[in-house]
Amino acid sequence: MVSRVAPLLIVAAVACSKGMQETTDDRWAIERERMVDHQLRGRDIRSDAVLQAMRRVPRHRFVPAEEQGGSYSDYPLPIGFGQTISQPYIVAFMTEALEVGPDHTVLEIGTGSGYQAAVLGELARDVYTIEIVEPLAERSRALLQELGYRNVHVRAGNGYLGWPDAAPFDRIIVTAAPDEMPPALVEQLKMDGLIAVPVGVGEQMLQVMRRTPAGLTMIKTLPVRFVPMTGKPKG
Ligand code: SAH
Repeated sequence: MVSRVAPLLIVAAVACSKGMQETTDDRWAIERERMVDHQLRGRDIRSDAVLQAMRRVPRHRFVPAEEQGGSYSDYPLPIGFGQTISQPYIVAFMTEALEVGPDHTVLEIGTGSGYQAAVLGELARDVYTIEIVEPLAERSRALLQELGYRNVHVRAGNGYLGWPDAAPFDRIIVTAAPDEMPPALVEQLKMDGLIAVPVGVGEQMLQVMRRTPAGLTMIKTLPVRFVPMTGKPKG
């Protein structure tokens, strides 16, 4: 008798744990929807494509387990190695300001958790992202692969040098703060391309600029606080 009952119990247990997983996913989806409504649409984020991308990316997967409760809250969170995942609004603001299109090749400096790269991966053809802390680059590469972002390419290295083999880029986003614009990044940006970079020490100003034949022209600015960009080449 027992041997007949046991398979049924196993089936019931599997069905039950699957149900629980779905409930948890639903809970995250509800929190994500609320984040998009209150923090993004409720402010000045208007691009449907950006709102849709941020509805899709499971931000809680990019946050360490002990911080997961705050995944969809209106602030940055620690991700280890003294680094942070940016506040959702800042991710949306930068992504919208860059007007990322489906034909674009995008360079990101500062992969961190990989979340911003995933949001860009929803919108662009290809995303190249560089992280100077090797274990962070490895962790993010594995997660992005697991989540199916085949168009996001992660490299451990120094973003001051850009990614010459994949240049030129339609868009460049820098998510750590240099004290001044890294020249290699401007060289690797296409003419008419857009770049977003938080410049400054302590007090930083996010600068969104377009490359023109006459040089960079400012499109918009926003006071921000990012971790400093490390590894500036000497001289
Ligand atoms: N975009 C990230 C958040 C960035 S935190 C996200 O979505 O989670 C900033 C990251 O920039 C940190 O992980 C830091 O290690 C990295 N960083 C700092 N200086 C760098 C450099 N010169 N090149 C590449 N990455 C750098």
